[in-house]
Amino acid sequence: MTDLTSTFQTIRTRIDAAALAAHRLRGVRLLAVGKTKPVSAIRALAELGQLAFGENYVQEALFKQQELVDLSLEWHLIGPLQSNKCRETACHFDWLQTLDREKLIEPLARYRPAHLAPLNVLIQINIDAETSKSGCPPHLMPYLAEHISQAPSLKLRGLMAIPAPHPDPGQRRHSFKRMRQLFEKLQQTYPSVDTLSMGMSDDFELAIAEGATMVRMGSALFGTR
Ligand SMILES: *Cc1c(COP(=O)(O)O)cnc(C)c1O
Repeated sequence: MTDLTSTFQTIRTRIDAAALAAHRLRGVRLLAVGKTKPVSAIRALAELGQLAFGENYVQEALFKQQELVDLSLEWHLIGPLQSNKCRETACHFDWLQTLDREKLIEPLARYRPAHLAPLNVLIQINIDAETSKSGCPPHLMPYLAEHISQAPSLKLRGLMAIPAPHPDPGQRRHSFKRMRQLFEKLQQTYPSVDTLSMGMSDDFELAIAEGATMVRMGSALFGTR
């Protein structure tokens, strides 16, 4: 067994155990974050059955997609989206996890090719009101959700957050809890909403306990950057 095989199996087992403990019957999805990692690492993980990959930079993702066209992978953009990248995002990704302002919605909807399924969209929430982070303030969520839901080429799937890396797990738990409350509120209005993306390598079990349906992991899978 290679290192990657055993690492992947250990992580998958820990995710499944946390999901079970939290009574998450539909399980918790793992998004493998491949930023700065070589194409060969992604290919190796895909061969183990991991098919959903997250990338932070559009250009890096497009390069990797070309190298991996022989595989059918699901690509998520998880880095901040600049307006001038809406077209490439709409054409080359399956999910956008970082929608945080209204002006991105119209170009994304317009550029999404008709032959592709709607682009799955998560609204990114700046849950700890950090000035340095992207994401919208919680009070803007209903407004953005309404606009996304009106575009037939976009599909509102839920919320994403990167809580402040607070050393005190109690603080992080509190941020995860507030995300879950927002998520449940959104679900009441939009039946398509099923995804709460939060938790990374060092706090994914806490995030699952507090309601994550998808965790995004880089270093725990691929080693430190
Ligand atoms: C890098 C990154 C991750 C993965 O972080 P790790 O700590 O390496 O697991 C998850 N989400 C986003 C948005 C990232 O940029």
